[in-house]
Amino acid sequence: MKKIMINEMSYHVGETIKLGAWLANKRSSGKIAFLQLRDGSGFVQGVVVKEEVGEDIFQKAKGLTQETSMYVIGEVTKDERSSFGYELQVKEIEVIQAAVDFPITPKEHGTEFLMDNRHLWLRSRKQHAVMKIRNEIIRATYEFFNNNGHIKADPPILTGSSPEGTSELFHTKYFDEDAYLSQSGQLYLEASAMALGKVFSFGPTFRAEKSKTRRHLIEFWMIEQEMAFCELEENLEIQEQYVAFIAQAVLKNCKIELERLGRDLSKLENIQAPFPRITYDDAIKLLHEKGFDDIVWGDDFGAPHETAIAESYDKPVFITHYPVGIKPFYMQPHPTRDDVVLCADLIAPEGYGEIIGGSERIWDYDLLKQRIQEHGLDEAAYAWYLDLRKQGSVPHSGFGLGLERTVAWLSGVEHIRETIPFPRLLNRLYP
Ligand code: ATP
Ligand code: MG
Ligand code: MG
Ligand code: MG
Repeated sequence: MKKIMINEMSYHVGETIKLGAWLANKRSSGKIAFLQLRDGSGFVQGVVVKEEVGEDIFQKAKGLTQETSMYVIGEVTKDERSSFGYELQVKEIEVIQAAVDFPITPKEHGTEFLMDNRHLWLRSRKQHAVMKIRNEIIRATYEFFNNNGHIKADPPILTGSSPEGTSELFHTKYFDEDAYLSQSGQLYLEASAMALGKVFSFGPTFRAEKSKTRRHLIEFWMIEQEMAFCELEENLEIQEQYVAFIAQAVLKNCKIELERLGRDLSKLENIQAPFPRITYDDAIKLLHEKGFDDIVWGDDFGAPHETAIAESYDKPVFITHYPVGIKPFYMQPHPTRDDVVLCADLIAPEGYGEIIGGSERIWDYDLLKQRIQEHGLDEAAYAWYLDLRKQGSVPHSGFGLGLERTVAWLSGVEHIRETIPFPRLLNRLYP
């Protein structure tokens, strides 16, 4: 007998198949039992009719506990009423392991309890939907960058130095030397862009952030892009095309999941390029108009500021040309103003905050060296990075997108902790 998965059932209507599954939930009466089965590829209802299977199998079905693993043999039928469109008319059940007191029941649970049981919580329909959306964003990311001539050039995770200083770095030992876990692969991507033209990367990044917000993880996954012969505006165009592409891919390929999450699809439908742009100067004015009297030119934006700015738009919005003082050392200065740099943050709608940080990079040797000194960075550690500016240096730009924030936004999930299988948070290293 053919063993198939739930998402393959549509090709096997009328056939008797074998399904490896867990019991997500069940209800039963004296004559019929409905088993909510899941196998990772989807959810399906198994129908056990006493008259057809006999007393023994029917009693076995009625006694199944939540999350028991089993093989189910049955016939696939089409059923318009079920959300998946198919049902399994159960003939036999072979229990593999009977689960005992599964702690996450259909009733409401507190967040700490769910986080303590993250290894089991992941099995819920909601978490399943979020993970499928995460997967679709990753898949669409590879498609987008491959379609647009990029080469994947993953940077190292263990590094000797880091672009943003050392305050948020995880320290470790590299044999006898000091090393840090990567906070961003950007500097390496810049070097790779000089070799390969257009590059992207996808990998974990680590920040020892003491902030306990719904947008910050200690370990998160970043998609980074870098391109040679590229100025800021061209980079913003790539960003908006990329973000629109993944939003549309999720809308197209994760309809069931978005519906299960109760996501308002119209919020994603209009995520199409181009995205609006507002300068930092105008963003400050807008904030003053909205009654944020405390913020002054030169301050960085916090979550409430980003949310207030984003409220004026129904798409992500670029805030461009931030003050030099609140951005890292490597950003290219504005050609006619020395107080702002050629950069942009992309702010997601609906209060999800910054999802991308990007900029044009300094490509002049003397200016970059001066910035490294001004920022008090260890020149020796950046020798190779500076050296790039001596060997056919060109204007280049790039960006980094936080995967988990993007998953949260597209899924409509409140807190970033639900967007990665095992979140690393300020006070949580287990499970
Ligand atoms: P924020 O201002 O929200 O702290 P950032 O400016 O420090 O973010 P960048 O260094 O620009 O972040 O990193 C690029 C992207 O990585 C951000 O736009 C965001 O999407 C994501 N990101 C940054 N820090 C985190 C974090 N701690 N957890 C999850 N995602 C993050
Ligand atoms: Mg930060
Ligand atoms: Mg920021
Ligand atoms: Mg940023």
